[in-house]
Amino acid sequence: MPIYEYYCSGCNTIYQFLVRGERKEIKCPKCGNGNLERVMSQFSTASSNSKSDDDLAADMADIDENDPRSMAKAVRRMADDMGEDLGPELEHALERLEAGEDPEKVERELEEMGFGEDGALPSSAPGRDPGLY
Ligand SMILES: [Zn+2]
Repeated sequence: MPIYEYYCSGCNTIYQFLVRGERKEIKCPKCGNGNLERVMSQFSTASSNSKSDDDLAADMADIDENDPRSMAKAVRRMADDMGEDLGPELEHALERLEAGEDPEKVERELEEMGFGEDGALPSSAPGRDPGLY
């Protein structure tokens, strides 16, 4: 039975759907959005998303949290890996880190701009729901 992946822009999440015969409508199981984007299978392609958690962990292990330049470099590299555009605010924040500013201060200001507390990366990389719908 074919499994298709659909991306919901409302949840920024990829859902897997088990498609049985004719299915009239694919809807987001979380928010009900009926306008999902079909995601082509990434199994056969060398996508940047195929990077394993281990690789990411290895990247993170390189980061010296006490060294703002090292953190800035790691953020740039991760964004690069994911093909993300950092945007002017983050770009500016990284430049400040690289100039040796206090990372906590920079991070706090980013949070105030709405970048969330889990670091300096934008949350534009979609999550993946493990369920099958
Ligand atoms: Zn949704």
